[in-house]
Amino acid sequence: MSKPVVAIVGRPNVGKSTIFNRIVGERISIVEDVPGVTRDRIYSSAEWLNTTFNIIDTGGIDIGDEPLLTQIRQQAEIAIDEADVIIFMTNGRDGVTAADEEVAKILYRSNKPVVLAVNKIDNPDMRENIYDFYTLGFGEPIPISGTHGLGIGDLLDAVVAHFPKRETKEYDADVIKFCLIGRPNVGKSSLVNAILGEERVIVSDIAGTTRDAIDTTFKRDGQEYVIIDTAGMRKRGKVYESTEKYSVLRALKAIERSDVVLVVINAEEGIIEQDKKIAGYAHEAGRGVVIVVNKWDAIEKDEKTMNEFEKKIRDHFQFLDYAPVVFVSAKTKQRLHKLLPVIQMVSENHAMRVQTNVLNEVLMDAIAMNPTPTHNGQRLKIYYMTQVAVKPPTFVVFVNDPELMHFSYERFLENRIRDTFGFEGTPIKIIARPKN
Ligand code: GDP
Ligand code: GDP
Repeated sequence: MSKPVVAIVGRPNVGKSTIFNRIVGERISIVEDVPGVTRDRIYSSAEWLNTTFNIIDTGGIDIGDEPLLTQIRQQAEIAIDEADVIIFMTNGRDGVTAADEEVAKILYRSNKPVVLAVNKIDNPDMRENIYDFYTLGFGEPIPISGTHGLGIGDLLDAVVAHFPKRETKEYDADVIKFCLIGRPNVGKSSLVNAILGEERVIVSDIAGTTRDAIDTTFKRDGQEYVIIDTAGMRKRGKVYESTEKYSVLRALKAIERSDVVLVVINAEEGIIEQDKKIAGYAHEAGRGVVIVVNKWDAIEKDEKTMNEFEKKIRDHFQFLDYAPVVFVSAKTKQRLHKLLPVIQMVSENHAMRVQTNVLNEVLMDAIAMNPTPTHNGQRLKIYYMTQVAVKPPTFVVFVNDPELMHFSYERFLENRIRDTFGFEGTPIKIIARPKN
């Protein structure tokens, strides 16, 4: 399923990030102790009346040293490119400004639904300030107050009303969807071309998603694959494309629609901090992960080089210890044939379901081998375990008191599960719940 995307646009200081944070709320990430992963505050999922969607704060995408007006224009263009519904935010204390009119002009030209919000209407007396804003030509302005949390519900009602009526199911369940993420110039586009080779491919605009999402479908050895958002890798010459925040945004959107994420690293340059951050996104999203070291042709090597490089990867990406590493060259096509079978294997593991009785045998053996910890004289008691979800495999452990389940014991159980069932390439979630 692809979730609708909402973008907030408007000139600086109208309250975009305040409203973004209000809408998103304080979300707790799946994995809180991943080193080097900072949560991205310009893109997040949100929920209103049982509808989930993703929201972008375009104000957070700074576009270098461009003049202010250029930046605002670019942000509006990003919103048009990336979103299904746009929240056009203005400031009720300032009235309509020239910059607002500039944004309006750009939004007119798009065919995207626009909801006009007038922020900083902090009390009922100020409501009359909104009438000015009819002149912007987007219908009824919705008064809101970010600081006081007023009118947000009305705003979201209006936004949700514009969502595509039915969430379109994108692909059949047995199609493997994957994407390639990584810094610029690591060779993502070259890898896509090399993987596809002479293959007859179908490039499709996907119904129900933003117009810029272009996926590539192909079949190999009877298995159907989709490379998600190959358009995101193609440069269209827009100024904002080279900004880091924008590429992160693209990557997050692609990750979300994928089963398996290929984290591409450039062998020539080794691993840098940004690689870690990018890999963290895939892990946090709970997708299957394959680490692909590209440009393997370009480095001097002997029989030890590969092991040494892999060791470096393991040191840097400790949170991805489950991810297989593949060394390839898009240029010489070296070892490229290994890639799709690895993707297929990871995809299967990502969707694997373990029977409860087998799982509990493993659990009982594990407890016998390594007794549960105690804390303040209280011992953790584990009753049973069951797999409640796939993609990623998620296990609920019923215990006497979840507080007693320490990270290290959880990790021990995860390792026992991995040793028994495999699960190579996929993160696993373990959730402790009290047994009533
Ligand atoms: P952005 O640049 O559009 O993202 O704006 P911010 O969210 O950073 O807000 C700019 C300033 O306006 C901050 O000082 C906020 O505290 C303030 N602000 C945001 N919403 C409101 C509001 O509803 N009422 C008032 N009085 N101030 C607000
Ligand atoms: P992207 O920005 O990640 O999509 O990277 P590109 O696919 O555009 O590649 C960036 C540069 O690296 C181009 O000049 C490619 O020719 C080069 N390149 C890509 N893959 C390889 C490889 O396997 N070996 C070598 N030597 N160069 C490569």
